[in-house]
Amino acid sequence: MRALQYAGAGTAPQVVTLPRPAPGPGQVLLKVTAAGVCHSDFAVMSRPDEALGFPLPLTLGHEGAGTVAALGEGVTGLALGDPVAVYGPWGCGTCPMCAQGKENYCTRAAELGIRPPGLGAPGAIAEYMVVDDPRHLVPLGALDPVTAVPLTDAGLTPYHAVKTSLPKLTPGSTAVVIGTGGLGHVAIQLLRALTPARVIALDVTDEKLRLAREVGAHDAVPSDQHAATAVRELTGGLGAQAVFDFVGAPPTVSTATACAAVEADVTIVGIGGGAASVGFGTTAYNVAVRSPYWGSRAELTEVLDLARAGAIDVHVQTYAMDEAPTAYEDLRGGRVHGRAVILP
Ligand code: NAD
Ligand code: ZN
Ligand code: ZN
Repeated sequence: MRALQYAGAGTAPQVVTLPRPAPGPGQVLLKVTAAGVCHSDFAVMSRPDEALGFPLPLTLGHEGAGTVAALGEGVTGLALGDPVAVYGPWGCGTCPMCAQGKENYCTRAAELGIRPPGLGAPGAIAEYMVVDDPRHLVPLGALDPVTAVPLTDAGLTPYHAVKTSLPKLTPGSTAVVIGTGGLGHVAIQLLRALTPARVIALDVTDEKLRLAREVGAHDAVPSDQHAATAVRELTGGLGAQAVFDFVGAPPTVSTATACAAVEADVTIVGIGGGAASVGFGTTAYNVAVRSPYWGSRAELTEVLDLARAGAIDVHVQTYAMDEAPTAYEDLRGGRVHGRAVILP
């Protein structure tokens, strides 16, 4: 089968030919129908090989959808051909976090060497992938896998972030979304579907700001050194009750804290090397800062249900397997509007 692999620092992902994997006991083999491309892969590829903690080469792709192609020994409850989405943040399944379905916060995954597909385990940008346990599969039903596959991360991650801040997003409140790419353009839609808040989007290009408005942002503002002032002006000086930073770089984190209102939530989702400083005289009173990771199994089901209800329309740019390396170049170059999805 063909797969997109990353071989080590300084190399670009490449399409390679590998033997088709077979599911071991308790595992499920999927024929992949669609796989999304996430900016987090650049964080992986920018680290020294020895800092990764898993062997290379790595088959990329932590957003996967497919149909059940084979069942490992002992697996029941799934039928060949069933369309499914992969819940990516695999955990141990039994620690207190996993017991609540919050495998994204598994307390034992690192110790047990459990890694998400595409982030240590073989990923979804391949013709076939092995899923370690049927509990990591969610039925897709009639959802189109191409537009649904980004929901497993670009949908689930902002959903988890937004859901935590729902009590702050009352009528008359404002939410700021910094970075309206794969995650951000879904975050805007989630905020519109789940809250009465005014949504202000920040990004660096006119095309991204246009997409932000198209998917529901009330205002779209250039993300520069004046952005926090612009947010304050748009909110009568108060600032925003919830700020979601999908870039997470030092300048955007500064903007995020600077436009936070009294008692605001500042949620840093982007892995851009920034860290928030909060304190008296620096930020408004009682600002809370969070750095959430991905989302729970139950939340993935909820996001898919929102899509079924028509509340989310993921914008996708599709690529054939041969073009998968181009998808990464386009993402790095800011040329992806919405999510890049590979069709293996
Ligand atoms: P993306 O490339 O699709 O989107 C990033 C967007 O940010 C683009 O629209 C880009 O134009 C914009 N941007 C860049 N610099 C900016 C700036 N200074 N101000 C405002 N906007 C700016 O990326 P993505 O796949 O949506 O991922 C977004 C971030 O979230 C990445 O850092 C990724 O690693 C991270 N991520 C985190 C989690 C988590 O669980 N915490 C999960 C997935 C992704
Ligand atoms: Zn991701
Ligand atoms: Zn666990």
